[in-house]
Amino acid sequence: MSKIKIKKIISIGIVIILSGMLSACGGNALTKDTASKQDENKSDITIVTSFYPMYIATLNIVKDIEGVKLTNMTPPITGCLHDYAVTPSDMKMLEDAQIFVVNGADMESFMDDVISQMKHLKIISAVKGIELLEGDEEEEPNPHVWVSVTHAITQVENIQKELSVLDPARSKQYEKNAQAYIKQLKELKSRMHQELEGITQRDIVTFHEAFPYFAKEFDLNIRGIIEREPGSQPSAKELIETIEQIKVLDIKALFAEPQYPSKAAETVATETGARVYILDPAVTGPMEADAYIHIMNQNTQVLKEALK
Ligand SMILES: [Zn+2]
Repeated sequence: MSKIKIKKIISIGIVIILSGMLSACGGNALTKDTASKQDENKSDITIVTSFYPMYIATLNIVKDIEGVKLTNMTPPITGCLHDYAVTPSDMKMLEDAQIFVVNGADMESFMDDVISQMKHLKIISAVKGIELLEGDEEEEPNPHVWVSVTHAITQVENIQKELSVLDPARSKQYEKNAQAYIKQLKELKSRMHQELEGITQRDIVTFHEAFPYFAKEFDLNIRGIIEREPGSQPSAKELIETIEQIKVLDIKALFAEPQYPSKAAETVATETGARVYILDPAVTGPMEADAYIHIMNQNTQVLKEALK
């Protein structure tokens, strides 16, 4: 086993098993005494997240913890990874990392081959244990679980638990940070339920399939999705059907997403008299720990305004 490989494995926390081997290789000052053994346990780790919501969740868990480097693989303007292709610099980033945090539910399935070749990389799938809704294609799950605050909480718990197993030396810090963030998320959730209690209209029409988990959580009915694939335009027939449906259901508000400005939204609005509002699925934004909470607060205000 090469020295580089050993270093990588150690940094993801399998220190106890390998410490004997390492001293056998010799020449590593870290194994000399107990004091430096602690340093060894806390060797630096590099975590990469696949896209924005995973970055924000993980940032809340690792922020302020020394020796943990967190990078997001994709620029924050990327949004969902539905059309994303891995670049050479992404590969390099993953080569240099020990842990890769993904959403799962097929959001990153385009990377399966790449990941399977990186034997050193530990994968944390944040979607574990979440009951998935069906996606727009048969037998494919809808991956947008984080748009529900309840599931966002589960994702934070999942990431923290796995991180603590992979990097036990920092497990207490991860747990403390995660608990503080989960407390904030729970407050957000109950605030949103309170605020949305009074809305009279619960039928909504959205663009792109990002909101089913959100709608389920807040008791909204998605009566139509105008563009299933982000950026794609609906056919003339689909557009006419949607316009008819909106008229029949007397829907007053359409919800577009800031990431995907839509011509179709404008057309439907003009034809039906419904207004277009922006609902944010939290796939882009500032790289700041409280960004998800801000986005959801904003969404709450938009829904209150649109559905009163
Ligand atoms: Zn999406």
